[in-house]
Amino acid sequence: MKLIVDDPNFPHGAKELDIVVYPNPILKKVAEPVEVFDEELKELCQNMLYTMYKAPGIGLAAPQIGIGKRIFVMDVDYDREFLDEDGNEVKISNLNPRIFINPQLKNHEGKTTYQEGCLSVPNIFDDVERYKTVDVEYQDVNGNKHTISTDDLLSICIQHENDHLDGIVFIEKLSHLKFNFYRQKLVKEKTRRGALK
Ligand SMILES: [Zn+2]
Repeated sequence: MKLIVDDPNFPHGAKELDIVVYPNPILKKVAEPVEVFDEELKELCQNMLYTMYKAPGIGLAAPQIGIGKRIFVMDVDYDREFLDEDGNEVKISNLNPRIFINPQLKNHEGKTTYQEGCLSVPNIFDDVERYKTVDVEYQDVNGNKHTISTDDLLSICIQHENDHLDGIVFIEKLSHLKFNFYRQKLVKEKTRRGALK
C-alpha cells in the first residue's frame, strides 16, 4: 500500500512494525506500566504511530506489536482518501496523533454502541457497547501527567485500546455465540496462513 502524506505531524523516518494477529497469546497478557521515559520510548511511540497510519487504522496498542507495555497511540481525526479503486494508494491529511502512556480510565458515564474493528482481528466488524464518556489520566512521552475528558469516537477508541492493555480483544465483549463463531473463523484463517507458508 502506497501512503501519500503531506503533514508535519506525520512520523517521517519511523519504522513499520509487524502487527500481531488474534489468537496470538501476547494479546491475552496484561501489559506492564512504563517506568523509563527515554529516547527508546519516544522512538517506539513514533514507530507505533507510523504503523497505525500505514495500516491504516485509528488506534494501536503496544501488545498489538508484541510489546507488553501500557502504551497506545491514536488518531481519530485524520482524513483518508483512497486514490485508486483497489485501495492501494491512500492519501492522508489533517493528522492529530495522540500518545497515551500508563492510561487510567475514570468517571465513565452513559452507554453507546459502535461498530468496531481491530488491526489484530482482520475482516471482523461488530457492534460493541461502551461508555459514552470517559475521563482518562495518562502520561506523555516525557512522563508528564495529563487528564482529558472524552466522548464520541475518541472515548470509544480509548476504551478499545485500553482493553488491549488488559489482555482483552473486542470480540470477547460480544455474546458467547458470536465470540465462538469469530474465534473459529480466526483460528481457521491462521491455520490457512500457516499452510501457505
Ligand atoms: Zn484493537
